[in-house]
Amino acid sequence: MSDNKAGVDLSIVIPVYNEVQCLPALHQQLKEVMDAVGRPYEIIVVDDGSTDGSYETLCELHAKDNNLKVIRFRRNFGQTAAFSAGFDYAHGNAVITIDADLQNDPHDIPILLAKMQEGYDVVSGWRKNRKDPLLTRRLPSMVANWLISTVTGVKLHDYGCSLKVYDRQVVKSLRLYGEMHRFLPALASWMGVDVAEVPVNHRARMFGHSKYGLSRTIRVLLDLLTVRFLLSFSARPMQLFGTLGMISFGIGSLLGLYLSILKIAYHRSIGERPLLLLAVLLIVIGIQFMTMGLLAELMVRTYHESQGKRTYVIREILE
Ligand code: UDP
Ligand code: MG
Repeated sequence: MSDNKAGVDLSIVIPVYNEVQCLPALHQQLKEVMDAVGRPYEIIVVDDGSTDGSYETLCELHAKDNNLKVIRFRRNFGQTAAFSAGFDYAHGNAVITIDADLQNDPHDIPILLAKMQEGYDVVSGWRKNRKDPLLTRRLPSMVANWLISTVTGVKLHDYGCSLKVYDRQVVKSLRLYGEMHRFLPALASWMGVDVAEVPVNHRARMFGHSKYGLSRTIRVLLDLLTVRFLLSFSARPMQLFGTLGMISFGIGSLLGLYLSILKIAYHRSIGERPLLLLAVLLIVIGIQFMTMGLLAELMVRTYHESQGKRTYVIREILE
């Protein structure tokens, strides 16, 4: 959205939802770390509809710190939307994301930045020694990370860690919906990025409480399905739906042919056979899949052409 404003090199994006007690300490620690890093930076805090006075605290901090920008949502739109807004307003060449609850340690930022300098587009934190409850958080997360790594082909130990660094181009070219922020490294793999992982410190929550529980599992699974589809078939949906349709239609037709031969050549009654029902069902589903594929092809064209989006991403051009 905004141009790369001269001066700012690093943007730190922080989603905040009812974290009033954490904010002063977070700001203090970030300031120390970023001053030590010595590159021009901005802190973009996105207040995701907090109702505990977080915004007032942010206003006070804002008055004292030129590097701090505050975006305030009208209501709670969720962590993904908060990241999205932060990305839209980020000016830096690299964008750092971190949670507001002090569970991530700002002192890890220089380590991630150093890794980035080795030529990576995304550097992800890995909470190797995670301080969250085992049963409700760490165990589901282990399964989720394994599943996401397998399904998307981008192998990370810790998709859920908010502490990550992205190249500007990565966050500027991706649009996030639902709860897609955790899939950013996988989504970005579509544009051919190099992803690295670095173990980071993780601290127990001192103030406030977690906004998530086990109920997130189902949503993550559904989002994973979307990501998988986007990664493989977003520019050629007919190949997926068409294949499914042809298989269904083919099997249905064969069954129908078999029943027709029985009827015509052998004069057997086929009216009450369940197989007939199955044949009809498969043929109808097959046709539906194929027409769905055609519609999806139309939508893909509208999607890209209405936004002037390309179906490829260029790294560089030598003329
Ligand atoms: N958060 C947000 N909007 C929400 C939920 C959470 O901006 O609707 C922020 C929250 O303030 C915190 C970060 O997202 O900075 C991570 O949330 P939380 O610590 O509750 O998640 P957990 O670390 O337990 O996974
Ligand atoms: Mg947390």
